[in-house]
Amino acid sequence: YMAGISHELRTPLNAIYGYAQILEGDAALPLRRREAARSIRRSSEHLAGLIENLLDISKIEAGRLEISRDRINLRAFLAQVTAIFEGQAKAKALDFRISTRGNIPTWVDCDEKRLRQILINLLSNALRYTEKGRVDMEIAYRNEVATITVTDTGIGIPPDQIHRIWKPFERLSRAGAGGSGLGLTITRLLVEILGGDISVESGLGKGSRFTLRLMLPSVRPSVISRMPEAHDARKVHATGYVGPRKAILAVDDDLDHLGLLETLLKPMGFLIQCQPSPVTALASLEDIAPDLFILDIDMPEMDGWSLAQRLRDDPKFRSTPIMMVSAHALEARSQVQREGLFDAFIIKP
Ligand code: ADP
Repeated sequence: YMAGISHELRTPLNAIYGYAQILEGDAALPLRRREAARSIRRSSEHLAGLIENLLDISKIEAGRLEISRDRINLRAFLAQVTAIFEGQAKAKALDFRISTRGNIPTWVDCDEKRLRQILINLLSNALRYTEKGRVDMEIAYRNEVATITVTDTGIGIPPDQIHRIWKPFERLSRAGAGGSGLGLTITRLLVEILGGDISVESGLGKGSRFTLRLMLPSVRPSVISRMPEAHDARKVHATGYVGPRKAILAVDDDLDHLGLLETLLKPMGFLIQCQPSPVTALASLEDIAPDLFILDIDMPEMDGWSLAQRLRDDPKFRSTPIMMVSAHALEARSQVQREGLFDAFIIKP
């Protein structure tokens, strides 16, 4: 069920998030209103994270979580993770350091997204549950196994409660505001899937140390050139483009989503035409020739795939790029069979 529920939740959340983001950046609004919009945006981010986490857990439980093999430049990766938390630590005057011990390989083989998720969960907990002192992460490496410790001088965990922290929705303290109680549940499941284990030592008021042991095969440089480059997850904020104006045709039965696309893309200089159904979209194509199609997948009467097929069959649009959009994270799996029908696939929001 989770995939379906996640779809139903994401679609309206997409509109809430998108419009809040637009209001937040609207310089014509009074500051108070923009702050309100920021709080809406943050809450919807929190909800989106929660949905993502629940979906992850249900995929893991169903044995359907796919693990990818990325080659990771370990030092660059750790520098990225450091950058995420540096500001937060500084704001609380905490000493924060990520260090390596002994020889660590330059390139390793692991699911980059999942490894990042694990480290982010542990570090964000360490920072959230530490008022003063320090947070340290240390990486040691031996026989293809990485031992990663995250140590803090925070509030700690009473020994008789320690087993609860791995259970979903269990929270021992109100200290780390904004948590969901799912972080460690997922962390542990992911660590196990990646072939490792995780443990914790802590005492009330004594700080905590999480120790993670993980198979992290090193990659010899000669193999590297044959492996696919891992995605860089850093966000890029686009404001426009160079060159002649481009026209986009967006088709989605969800009018909120269409409105959102228009509000986002128009200021960047796109000529955007929105159509609420494949039928009206096909009719409109007699007069226009878009440079890009953005097609929702789930639509009544004719779905986005059929529409894409119709466009591919039309000599006029055979080579026009098609971007498929869906709130169904799982749709992305079926894309492999439809290769050739579309050029890009993105998930809402
Ligand atoms: P949450 O979103 O509540 O932080 P987690 O699953 O990440 O959810 O953690 C579960 C609980 O474990 C937290 O609510 C907190 O009580 C405790 N906990 C986790 N990490 C730490 C830590 N570094 N120091 C103290 N308590 C922690």
